Amino acid sequence: MQPVLSLNGISKSYGRIHALKNVSFDVPEGAVFGLLGPNGSGKTTMLSIILDILKADTGSFAWFGLPGAPETRQRIGSLLETPNFYHYLSAVDNLTITSAISSRGNAEDIDRVLEIVKLSERKKSKFSTYSLGMKQRLAIGAALLGDPQVLVFDEPTNGLDPVGIAEIRELIKVLAKRGKTIIMASHLLDEVEKVCTHVAILKRGHLLTAGEVDIVLANEDIVEVSSNNLDQLLSVLEKFPGHTHIKQDGKLVQLFLPVGTARLEEINRFCFEKGITLNLLLVKKKSLETKFLELTND
Ligand code: ATP
Repeated sequence: MQPVLSLNGISKSYGRIHALKNVSFDVPEGAVFGLLGPNGSGKTTMLSIILDILKADTGSFAWFGLPGAPETRQRIGSLLETPNFYHYLSAVDNLTITSAISSRGNAEDIDRVLEIVKLSERKKSKFSTYSLGMKQRLAIGAALLGDPQVLVFDEPTNGLDPVGIAEIRELIKVLAKRGKTIIMASHLLDEVEKVCTHVAILKRGHLLTAGEVDIVLANEDIVEVSSNNLDQLLSVLEKFPGHTHIKQDGKLVQLFLPVGTARLEEINRFCFEKGITLNLLLVKKKSLETKFLELTND
């Protein structure tokens, strides 16, 4: 299937600062694609390039397989910075202005958008009376005007409290269910892991990895094991065939094996035959945070 977005060797420098170095990846249709990276890794620069706000020094990108086609812009909604809403106007009035300026959507569309971002009940209230979460939902609503196929968000949960973050997460899930492709930069790894199907990790302008979240995470199996005598357990597991390494984590031992090779019954039998009764044995999924720290640590 044709990717919604293809990046090919994108590089960008600001004077002597190399913000992006030869970055290439594809965003498949229907993906919730998380762009991750520490501060200053090039996420905003990347989003600005694909939205034609900045020009890449070298490399190219294509939306819907159409390089440099300005008409594709109408199919993309974006939220890079919080829009300048008028504090003394209502949500409806603010979106009416945004819609007129951007030539996207109409009165009917504004009602549809307010429904999606769950602001219908407060649509006549002044913007100044909104919570931070509501303001951010209205900003996302503005990006939804005209019903674009693709949505690009830069740190959509920035500055929100846990409730606000959860609301945006639910909203992103709703949009994904409606078939939208979503590209979002974030530094909230846990959030990205909860909503994203795909991820790209940047570090100082280099792409470290990109692909389906499960594949990026699953390059090894981790089995957590525990018993009353940890020293004895460690020395026995050292001899378990096929493992790559072992780590002690508090009262647990983590046994690392090549992906797809963890067999709990074999580990259990092996330990039992050496006189060890296990009181814990489970496969642990690596969190995106662990993977991210592993990749971005020097
Ligand atoms: P953050 O998470 O902090 O927003 P980011 O991953 O979005 O960071 P960018 O904002 O793209 O990263 O910045 C990448 C690098 O380019 C950084 O070193 C930054 O200081 C630099 N940079 C960004 N914009 C400019 C600019 N207009 N002029 C000079 N340097 C810039």
